[in-house]
Amino acid sequence: MLRRRFLQFLSGGLFSGLTGLFFRKPLFAMQDYGSQGKLVLILENGEKKQLFTFDKSGEYFISVKNFSDLTGLGIFTNIEKRKTVLYVQDTKIKFTADNPFVIINNDQIIQVVLEPFWKEGEIWIAVEELARLLSGYSALKVSYNRATGEVILGNKDINVTRVDVFTKQNGVMVQLSATKKFAEKDLSTKKVNNWFYLEIIGGKLDPKVINRSVSNELITEIQAVQLEQAASVAFKLKNDIIDIHLSSGDGSNDIILNLVTDQQLEKDMKAREDLHEQKKKWLIDTIVIDPGHGGKDPGAVGVGKIKEKDIVLPVALKLGTALKNALPDVNIVYTRDTDVFIPLWQRTKIANQANGKLFVSLHCNSNRSSKFNGFETYFLSSEKDERAKDVVMKENQSIEFEESEDKKRYEGINFVLATLAQNAFIKQSQYLASTVQKKMALKLKPLGMNDRGVKQGPFWVMVGATMPNVLIEMGFISNKFESKLLMQKSTQQKLADSICDGIVKYKTDFESSI
Ligand SMILES: [Zn+2]
Repeated sequence: MLRRRFLQFLSGGLFSGLTGLFFRKPLFAMQDYGSQGKLVLILENGEKKQLFTFDKSGEYFISVKNFSDLTGLGIFTNIEKRKTVLYVQDTKIKFTADNPFVIINNDQIIQVVLEPFWKEGEIWIAVEELARLLSGYSALKVSYNRATGEVILGNKDINVTRVDVFTKQNGVMVQLSATKKFAEKDLSTKKVNNWFYLEIIGGKLDPKVINRSVSNELITEIQAVQLEQAASVAFKLKNDIIDIHLSSGDGSNDIILNLVTDQQLEKDMKAREDLHEQKKKWLIDTIVIDPGHGGKDPGAVGVGKIKEKDIVLPVALKLGTALKNALPDVNIVYTRDTDVFIPLWQRTKIANQANGKLFVSLHCNSNRSSKFNGFETYFLSSEKDERAKDVVMKENQSIEFEESEDKKRYEGINFVLATLAQNAFIKQSQYLASTVQKKMALKLKPLGMNDRGVKQGPFWVMVGATMPNVLIEMGFISNKFESKLLMQKSTQQKLADSICDGIVKYKTDFESSI
């Protein structure tokens, strides 16, 4: 079935027409286009084709355009914006050059570890990432064998490829794209509490592709289960539904469900705002700055009795000013802007209540040995990184200054579970940590400070923040050279400016992917 669709694309369908518009000079005339002979693409019918590859940091990257040429998949490239959309049946996968966020069907943001880049007027993506994206989010099964260099294209054994939810004038429409026609007798619906179920006898689907949360005024979540004889798709409802129309679409294989609620008028209004709102809620419009310690908690005490709390506060205020200058529309919230004590749990509460979109905690490091030096950025993880143990212990010690009532809040919290709850943000936090650390290195290494890199650790102050968050150790106040630097206003300004640069880079990359 899939092959036939590929051939349709090849034989002058809509998408091959679009790619034609963006054909540039022929491949053989290109300079530096990469080399052939390293990766072999094996199509479903066994046909073998050579992929152009480009080696970058030990990984093979391939051109999305070359991949689409060889597979017949549809493609559209916006050269100006350096974006490419790959069409796989009903799935649209959008790549942006030098940006780790990949968009699936305009409603899911997936982060890749190896960023796609722009070369010869095209997007190049690590073959490993492309295989993962296609297998995870489309009807295709793509396996990459690193040892043999084979990229094997297959078809999942499925006949329900996608589920989409649309807001219509007369209610909410659910569209299930199918590759075969289902008879109405094979379709049944039921409602249990706030879940609505559709059972498709003979239906085969990939729950990984279907399951997701959706942004719609009626449906908030889709959960699919593959049973032996049937597929079941469940929809979590926000409001009660008063009527359901089920049809196996005329002319197409699609299964259409029209769900009617009694909040019609309200809904019409919302529908218009929906797309706008959906995008708006992703925007990074509030940034929370958390200067560590304060008041009775001095934090680390370093050379010449300088206190961590007295370094992080001026840097935090300078960071806030730098961010306000760079991003005038963004709201800046401080967990403290004076020398006061704030319990750790309250810091994330302040961030959540302000509807923060990023949380940045500022600290200084110390060690019994005065030879340790350098700056490092942490993201939350339950993993036990031996190198981070010391820092984690020290920063979590702030709890000792809290009232016994406050301390009780940390009892019985399982760190692994608490971190899991944050999973959605961990990859984003990791990326924020890397942009901040890189920008800090640019300004601080010339001063003679040491780049200790990005690390992970279980910090209490980060648990519970429902947003990407990082903790920055800006240098060792136990080191004579660094404590002197950290006390200087000019270094504090450099710290603030570089952290600001890292946040701006993250915000730009994240928002341009939307
Ligand atoms: Zn600290």
